[in-house]
Amino acid sequence: MHIYPIPAFKDNYIWVIHNEHDAVVVDPGIAFPVIEYLRLKKLQLNAILITHHHHDHTGGNAELLKSFNVPVYGPCNESIAAVTHPMSEGDEIILQKISLNLKVLDIPGHTQGHIAYYGSKPTNIVFCGDTLFSCGCGRIFEGSPRQMYESLQKLSHLPGDTLIYCTHEYTLSNIRFARVVDPQNLRLMELESTAQELRHQNIPTIPTTLSVEKTVNPFLRCDQHEIIYSAQRHAAKPLPNPLSVFTALREWKNNF
Ligand SMILES: [Zn+2]
Repeated sequence: MHIYPIPAFKDNYIWVIHNEHDAVVVDPGIAFPVIEYLRLKKLQLNAILITHHHHDHTGGNAELLKSFNVPVYGPCNESIAAVTHPMSEGDEIILQKISLNLKVLDIPGHTQGHIAYYGSKPTNIVFCGDTLFSCGCGRIFEGSPRQMYESLQKLSHLPGDTLIYCTHEYTLSNIRFARVVDPQNLRLMELESTAQELRHQNIPTIPTTLSVEKTVNPFLRCDQHEIIYSAQRHAAKPLPNPLSVFTALREWKNNF
């Protein structure tokens, strides 16, 4: 099984999961590069998976459906015209042609109905849209800070070796913020050099892994001394629990 990132727009990745014959696409914001890739690799599209309603994740649906008559899985709590299979927490998707089973997780916050797709065979993988990024997290557009915090906590309970397939190449700018919040973190400095090297060669920094994120991502480390200290200093008030630290960090990042 291959999982290939098709770059789209300024910094999106459209993920194509495929074997030699069949493919499933995640969050096709635009159709033509997907159609090009499928043609080049001689792949048959079997399904479309959508994490949330934003146009840069759904804009290619209509065009793809003109060429391929396939099911479209997406969040049941959002209105997305093309969705044929509305999904929510605990639902399972059996993608027989590519031998992949995925489980749906509700992860609201960025949008009200945002979902993730988690698979555990042959490896642990999660497609988490705009919720957990490498070294950062999505903006809170529709949900509350508590929802976003709990969604990130839910993702952080997946196995450590889970590969995180998020939808944007935001890693370097996320690291710039993380370095200010967590200046002594050696793992973060290492990640910065690695990410810079990859981006110089135009190679994606994604997927990342959960175990790496737990050592570098300030939004997953709201119970750590260093993060609490920086967030309190910036907010100029005591932050009594991880949720209040998370909320302050997210606001800080919004204006960074
Ligand atoms: Zn979005």
